[in-house]
Order: sequence, then C-alpha cells, then structure tokens
Amino acid sequence: AGIINFCANNYLGLSSHPEVIRAAVEALEKFGAGLSSVRFICGTQSIHKDLEEKIARFHQREDAILYASCFDANAGIFEALLTPEDAVLSDELNHASIIDGIRLCKANKYRYKHMDMQDLEAKLKEAQKHRLRLVATDGAFSMDGDIAPLREICQLAQKYDALVFIDECHATGFLGPNGRGTDELLGVMDKVTIINSTLGKALGGAAGGYTTGPKPLIDLLRQRSRPYLFSNSLPPAVVGCASKALDLLMESNAIAQSMAAKTQRFRSKMTAAGFTISGKDHPICPVMLGDARLASVMAEDMLNRGIYVIGFSYPVVPKGKARIRVQISAVHSDEDIDRCVEAFTEVGRKHGAL
Ligand code: PLP
Repeated sequence: AGIINFCANNYLGLSSHPEVIRAAVEALEKFGAGLSSVRFICGTQSIHKDLEEKIARFHQREDAILYASCFDANAGIFEALLTPEDAVLSDELNHASIIDGIRLCKANKYRYKHMDMQDLEAKLKEAQKHRLRLVATDGAFSMDGDIAPLREICQLAQKYDALVFIDECHATGFLGPNGRGTDELLGVMDKVTIINSTLGKALGGAAGGYTTGPKPLIDLLRQRSRPYLFSNSLPPAVVGCASKALDLLMESNAIAQSMAAKTQRFRSKMTAAGFTISGKDHPICPVMLGDARLASVMAEDMLNRGIYVIGFSYPVVPKGKARIRVQISAVHSDEDIDRCVEAFTEVGRKHGAL
C-alpha cells in the first residue's frame, strides 16, 4: 500500500490505461484465448494482420512481422538475413538478445566499442571485403539511458555501404517529437533500414515483439525466421492491447510529452540535490553510486519509504559502476516525482552518498 513503482518499463503508463484494458477484454471475447497454432498454419486472425499494418504505419515503414517477443525478433533476424559471406558490426553493449541472435548466424562478426565512431569506422573498413554489412545497435541503451549516435552511424553506413539495424525497445512510443523512436529523434527515419522493438514496454506492457522495414525483408522473415515459423501466434488479448496503445499514440503525443516533462523534473531535481544521473533526457535515469552494497542498501531503504527501485551491480553493469536505475512513467504525478527525490535525498544522506 502506498508504494510507488519506479522500476518498470511502463514508460507511458499504458498498461493500466482503461481503453487498453477494454481493448484486451474485447479481443479476448471476440477472438478467443489463443490460437493453438503458429502463424502460418491456423494462427493468423484479422487482428494480427491489422496490428502488423499499424506497426508499419506507425514507424513509416513498408511492412512488419509479429513475434512472441522482441527477444525472438532479435533471435530470428540475423540468421535469416545474413550468410557466411556477410558481416555484422555490433555495439559491445547491445542487449543480450541481439548478442544471441548474432551468435546464431554465420556472418563474420565485428564488435565495436560502445558508441565509438572511430572504432566503428575502422571495423567497417575491415569489413569491406564482405558481400553485405549490417550495423546493429540499441537505439537507447537500457543500463545507462544513453542514446546511440544514429546520425553518425548512418553517415558511416552510407560511406561504407552498410545497412543499419536498431533495437528500439527503450524508445518506441516516446522518443522523438511523435514518439516514433530514436530514428525520429535524430532525424534519420529514412536512413535506418530495420527496426526491432517490443510490445512489452511502452506499448501496453503485455508481451510481443516485431520487425519492421522493407517489404522484401519482411517476406523473407516470414519464410525463414525460426522463432516466427516455430512458435505460437500472439494471443488476441495481447494483440488488442498493443493495437489500442498504438491508436492512442497516433492520435496524440500528449502522453509522451507528459512523460518527458516528468523525466526532466526528476533529472534536474536529483542533479540539484547532488546526485549524478547517467544518460540525457531519457526516462531511464540511472542514479550512479559506484559501490554495489551502497546501491543495494539504499534501494532497500527507498522501499521502506514507499519508493520501489532496484540496485544494479556487477555482472549486470561493470564493476565499480553500481547504480539504482529509476524509470519515469507518464502515470507518475509531479508529487510522486518529488516524493521520490525527497526519499533519495534522505536515504543518500543517511548512507553517505551525498
Ligand atoms: N531488446 C532490448 C533492448 C530490451 O531491453 C529487451 C527487454 O528487456 C528486449 C530486447 C527483449 O524484449 P522482450 O521482452 O519483448 O522479449
């Protein structure tokens, strides 16, 4: 009772939005609990096709394909797209699902230093000998709340004839003027070829993932992508949630703007209180503490004050870079944000972090 959640990926608060919940109930009643089938046998209903069309429209891409999760979308894309003659260049801090997806493919693998454009350029030069090059990066990195330099990445990709893939799990729905994501924020929507993202965070928080991009790529994935071919189709209630979440976001960007204003409030008040917050303008606000034990006892004490946050330490983040990762949501009120800052200030003083 009275505990405020500051550690969910529910950036826009849509998981408790009455219209999202109603859409799920309606889909459940009209289309059933589930299809007991993969998509290409008898697992495709009109709502699956409609959601794929809506996702493509939202991202201004040609087509989209649904998966049970973004983990699956990442696991399925590299193997289907790349051959042993090709190369994939991956940021060293990419999400585990991208790393696993790359492991499954037979392309030549290059890992560049986190957001280091000199290193990426060196690797792109080295990779010129291959048939095709794909640069893969998270749009926003979830541990630090930092945003990939997509403009520079796209310039290098153009110079060295490479395709760009971004994972937008921590960007879809709220980054950029219309919440389209990192590519919109940085003005490169026409330069990023492939987007993978999740329905399990800002877009209602239920489950599901997708790839959106050129139609021939989506056609190829429907033929070859193993998590799509060999895993059950998304349940109607889950499709209903995501579909309604996208409708709400395409009608207005007010929810995303309210979240951005609250992020700004939290970041500036915490900085003024003396804390170091990693990243910039992103609702992932890592409160950097350094020491693993400090992060863990402070998180415990925050809970005693009604603020639910979690400490992250090695091996989830590098040694000596322990932190409490706060995530801001549109459902937080200004009073909630202020209560969180006050609790951090008290707890920080008590444990010598300030
Ligand atoms: N990619 C990133 C960057 C993520 O943060 C996550 C979720 O933690 C995923 C992919 C996997 O998404 P899903 O939960 O839809 O499998």
